[in-house]
Amino acid sequence: MSDIQKVMVFGAGISGKGAAAELAKQGKTVFLYDDSPKTLEPELEAALAAKGGGFVCGSLEAVLNQVQQVVLSPAVPLNLPALQKAQAAGVEVITEVELAWRNYPGHMIAITGTNGKTTTTTLVGEMLKTLPVKTAVGGNIGFALSKEVVGLDRNSWVAAEVSSYQMEGIRNFCPDVAVVLNLTPDHMERHKTMDEYGRCKRNVFINQTARQVTVLNYDDPEVRTWGKYSKGTLCYFSRTAVLPEGVYMKDGSFFIKWKNTAAEICHKSELQIFGAHNEENVLAAIACGFFAGVTPEDMRQTLLDFKGVEHRIEYVTTINGVPYYNDSKATNTDSVIKALEAFSGGHIILLAGGHDKMTPLEPMMRLVSEKADLLILLGEARERFYEAAVAAHVPAIIVVDTFKEAVETAYAKAHAPQVVLLSPACSSFDMFHDMGERGRYFKKLVRDLAKEAH
Ligand code: ADP
Repeated sequence: MSDIQKVMVFGAGISGKGAAAELAKQGKTVFLYDDSPKTLEPELEAALAAKGGGFVCGSLEAVLNQVQQVVLSPAVPLNLPALQKAQAAGVEVITEVELAWRNYPGHMIAITGTNGKTTTTTLVGEMLKTLPVKTAVGGNIGFALSKEVVGLDRNSWVAAEVSSYQMEGIRNFCPDVAVVLNLTPDHMERHKTMDEYGRCKRNVFINQTARQVTVLNYDDPEVRTWGKYSKGTLCYFSRTAVLPEGVYMKDGSFFIKWKNTAAEICHKSELQIFGAHNEENVLAAIACGFFAGVTPEDMRQTLLDFKGVEHRIEYVTTINGVPYYNDSKATNTDSVIKALEAFSGGHIILLAGGHDKMTPLEPMMRLVSEKADLLILLGEARERFYEAAVAAHVPAIIVVDTFKEAVETAYAKAHAPQVVLLSPACSSFDMFHDMGERGRYFKKLVRDLAKEAH
């Protein structure tokens, strides 16, 4: 809105800083607010100061009194009393994704769901690169969407990963293609109920009309029913049913069938990623690629080249015939279940534990006892995990003190046809800065052992 001159950006994380930089570039006075002190990059600090703004910590109400618009980072809940008061006083409160949408003239694909967002968005981003236009990837994936869309034009295509938090406060956001991958309980501390969590996710397509496409997972019992909430053109994907129209699997191959198009894209055995969950991500990505105008041949080549995303059942190396996989991103039990299921041959040596999220462990441990030859436990969670593993009759359990010891124990015990899998079912904060640091450390230890072994 052109009459808005003073803006507060709430939250100085990746999205907030990206939004603040972009707004300052547009000539606005920007107050970048955070609850805790932050040091800004000198370039950003100078850009904000040049327009009379800057970083502010504390005194939220005083800042809110000075601005006409608030742009929220995903972590900030909309229902903060101070924000509601400001809204009642005429301050416009929008999210960073909405800001990006308003500043962007081109085409957008927005991907949401409880799991699989980053994998699918990355894959779609790779497919888009085959188009003869400018493309970008952004959003929850780690790059502020409002920053990534800068410099793009009407013909551009953007793949945006959007979380339920980012969808909570949208107004006009209306992507050309909206994808919902799945819905399982998560983030209840913020959304309170599954209904509310689902409602936020549905915002991804809520402004669509028949000119836009809503892509829904036919195999997810909840998401399958969401067609009734969308005015967009519906396209379903399924790995279990051969759909009359949509994207589906048959005899292990991926197909798209839409109006006059019918194409086989590739067979799952040609992919470098595996597991039923990744097949769903591939199906969703094919739908996105198709509606963005990517040719079946280009989709096929992109899929064959795609190595997956770091820390998600990522192949590290093979030592003495035993492959090692880094699934550090598996910070909850659902993700570990997906990883265990992905290894159809079993014989897994599983490394699990870390900072305990205190969620029920029975379903995961039941599968561990079926699929794993050995469970190595570490971190703060190890005692509770140990009790659950014993109760589920996991065949062999070793409890260790350090992360290095866990990897060395796996190495000492492993022999073909076993596989070693780090899939912790825990966050990493007891030992590491984040799951990325944990995954990289795991890979370093494994590669060091590989050098030794050779
Ligand atoms: P997100 O960005 O939604 O967290 P990722 O692509 O980063 O999703 O994958 C995170 C983890 O979620 C993976 O390691 C895997 O265990 C699980 N996962 C990935 N895709 C799916 C899917 N389609 N359905 C269920 N679980 C999935």
